[in-house]
Amino acid sequence: MGGCGSGRRYRYSTKGTLDASSRLDIRYLKNQGMLRGGYYSLSWNRNGEPTGNVSVRIVAGESMTVIYKWRRNSSEEWQPAEKVVRLAHTACALGGSRPWFVCPYCSRRVAIVIVDGAHVACRHCLNLTYASCNEDMIDRSWRKRDKIKSRLGGDDINIYVKPKGMHQRTWERLRWQYQNAELQGWEWMEARLEALRGWR
Ligand SMILES: [Zn+2]
Repeated sequence: MGGCGSGRRYRYSTKGTLDASSRLDIRYLKNQGMLRGGYYSLSWNRNGEPTGNVSVRIVAGESMTVIYKWRRNSSEEWQPAEKVVRLAHTACALGGSRPWFVCPYCSRRVAIVIVDGAHVACRHCLNLTYASCNEDMIDRSWRKRDKIKSRLGGDDINIYVKPKGMHQRTWERLRWQYQNAELQGWEWMEARLEALRGWR
C-alpha cells in the first residue's frame, strides 16, 4: 500500500506549502454557478487556519485556468503558477449534461483535480507520480535524512539547538547533511514530476 512517496507528501504538506492537497471539485464549481464563466477566488481552510487560495478563470464549456503561488517551504520564494485545465461535458441519461475536468496529464475525465505544488492534475496522476518515483534514489535520501535526524534528537528535532554533549563541528556537519538529504530527496521527486510533465 502506498507508493514510495505516499507518506512523504504529507510531511511536505505540513511544512507550509500552499497545501499539497488542495482539491477543486467541479460539482462545487457548478453549484456555485462558476461554470457559467468568470473570475473567482477559492480558498481552503484546515482547523480554521487558511491553508491556501487560488484564483480561477473559467471560460464556459472550455477551460479553467488556475492561478496561484506555491512554495515548498517557508524559506523559499513563492513561485507563480498558471495551469489550464480543459472542461468537458457528457450527456446524462435523463437529459442535461454533466461537467468534467480533463486532466492535463492523462486526459481522463475527472470530477476533482488537485493543486499540488507546481502541478494541477487528477488523483491518479499524482499518485502514479509518487508511486512510480525513483524509489531507490528518493528512499536513499530519506533514509539518510532520518538517520541523521535520530542523531540530532529524533522527532523532537530542532536543528537550531545543538544536542547536549555533541561537538559543535559535528553538529554543524550533521545539520548541513540533514538539510542536504532532505533537499536531495525532494529534488529526486521533482525530477519524477518533470518526467511526468513530459507525457503530455
Ligand atoms: Zn490524470
